[in-house]
Amino acid sequence: MGTSLAALTAILLAPPPTSRPSPAPSVGIIDMHVHAYASDERWTARIGNPVTGQAMVATDENAHRAATFAAMKRTHIVKAVVSGDDYDAVLRWKQAAPDHVFVSYGFDDPTRVDLDFLRKEKAVGRLDVIGEVGSQYEGIAPNDPRMEPIYALAEELDVPLGLHLHPGPPGATSIGYPKIRPSLGDPLLLEDVLVRHPRLRLYIMHAGWPFLENLIALLNAYPQVYVDVAVIDWTKPRKEFHRYLRGLVEAGYSRRILFGSDQMVWPEAIDMSVAAIQSADYLSPKQKSDIFYHNAARFLRLEPATPVAPKGAMETLPR
Ligand SMILES: [Zn+2]
Repeated sequence: MGTSLAALTAILLAPPPTSRPSPAPSVGIIDMHVHAYASDERWTARIGNPVTGQAMVATDENAHRAATFAAMKRTHIVKAVVSGDDYDAVLRWKQAAPDHVFVSYGFDDPTRVDLDFLRKEKAVGRLDVIGEVGSQYEGIAPNDPRMEPIYALAEELDVPLGLHLHPGPPGATSIGYPKIRPSLGDPLLLEDVLVRHPRLRLYIMHAGWPFLENLIALLNAYPQVYVDVAVIDWTKPRKEFHRYLRGLVEAGYSRRILFGSDQMVWPEAIDMSVAAIQSADYLSPKQKSDIFYHNAARFLRLEPATPVAPKGAMETLPR
């Protein structure tokens, strides 16, 4: 309603910044990392795309949602896990596209989460995922005791949990996140958590970049853990993204990687993220469709898990 016809037309006609014609898998793509906002300072400041400099295509909730849905449509994203600081905005996205949105509850400070509210949301069938959990922005380590009730709740409700592990934007400590520390993004800080919560359906957002070796150690030890490649697929130099992704795939983990964009206030980042995966010439068509769709479908239980190995021996058999 808030979007003028002219603005909407401009959005729909805007060419994607990267028009690589490579097809998406026939089942489509699942984006595990999309954000909704009711308001945002970056809209007010009209911050262009941080990588391409492209001017903002949307500066309010309705236009941003429409532009993001348009980006999803042109890249064949059929479902997206949507989260944000404003849960009501996420619910409005769900209402606008019930078949395409998974509702996710995001927050940074675990001590301010109303656990009973989440229990109720799950009970009425509204809550699909918990995340993005940005506790690192609050200076809270993955193994901090303040995170314990969150892990216990995700396990109790049997919902996936998406945890942000990433150094954050360059200069983060001087642009509003004084407590963030890159060292808190080390995936091995999750070890004791995974031992205490063996049924936790965890996905590590941003694939714990740049801690590749430690991430591989974690994936090896805990076969239930998945990672998304959001934000690193469109903000990092393409070569660096491929070094990281290729490292994961060559270590044997192509079936544990989830596609994600983390478009934030730049819907065209979805095109850039899809293009990044498509340009990976070291991935087979099967590996691409696993990363784009089937791994997420298995993780979210949209399709049955195909047992690849006897219980406890998952890593000993070929994938
Ligand atoms: Zn994040």
